[in-house]
Amino acid sequence: MSDAPLPRRCLVTGANRGLGLEFVRQLLARGDRVIATSRHPGRAHALNQLAGQNPGRLHVLPLDVAEPKTHAELARELPLVTDGIDLLINNAGVLHSGERFGHVAATQLDDSLRTNAAGPFLLTQALAPHLADAAKVANLSSMLGSISSVDGFHTPTYAISKAAQNMATVLLAQALHERGITVIALHPGWVQTDMGGKGAQVTPADSARGLLGVIDSATLADSGRFIDWQGNALPW
Ligand code: NDP
Repeated sequence: MSDAPLPRRCLVTGANRGLGLEFVRQLLARGDRVIATSRHPGRAHALNQLAGQNPGRLHVLPLDVAEPKTHAELARELPLVTDGIDLLINNAGVLHSGERFGHVAATQLDDSLRTNAAGPFLLTQALAPHLADAAKVANLSSMLGSISSVDGFHTPTYAISKAAQNMATVLLAQALHERGITVIALHPGWVQTDMGGKGAQVTPADSARGLLGVIDSATLADSGRFIDWQGNALPW
């Protein structure tokens, strides 16, 4: 991002809580303009408060990443609030916990795939005409989606969907390369959010700061790579 002039135009999905909300706070604090999306903007109290404190710099728009028709609606509304996007953070995600082999539900696998894999892929495709040349796309993945790091039958629908998202990242990197757009997969650490739950070690503030640093320093040569919040390359 160091190559894009300030203020940068950013779009963050799943921005009403957790890491997404922290990305919005930090992007605003460094002077960027932000479009923050949420499934239910009317209930996104922290975001709406931030919007009141940052008039004209933060717009809150509806988006359910698992519903492609809302991607198209967002793409139609975007020109009303911005003339382009320099950074797209595909942050929204879902984890269904407590899944056991023999009892994994098709509905949960479907929801995980639609939200975590199809969501970032189809949203990036829908917003591609609005991405600036040399923009960056950051997909929030997880070490749990790393096939070579599997060490047991854990969170299967989440792991399957994040592995599929990783392939989406690599394919998007290929598709957007000729426009100079960098697409990366990011692992945020085990973060203290609703999803991270008990035992999580990293604060949302530290994780988002680390990830924004990784995004800033990523170049087109890094497109299609899998990187953690401290800048370490991860195995697929
Ligand atoms: P949270 O559960 O705290 O927040 C998830 C966010 O995603 C919420 O804003 C939620 O909105 C939104 N969301 C879920 N489904 C949809 C949907 N269909 N459409 C739009 N928004 C949706 O998660 P985190 O902040 O911890 O996670 C952020 C990202 O980081 C995720 O992609 C996650 O997989 C990834 N990650 C997190 C880790 C952690 O330890 N926390 C570890 C590895 C990866 P709503 O309030 O409407 O539900």
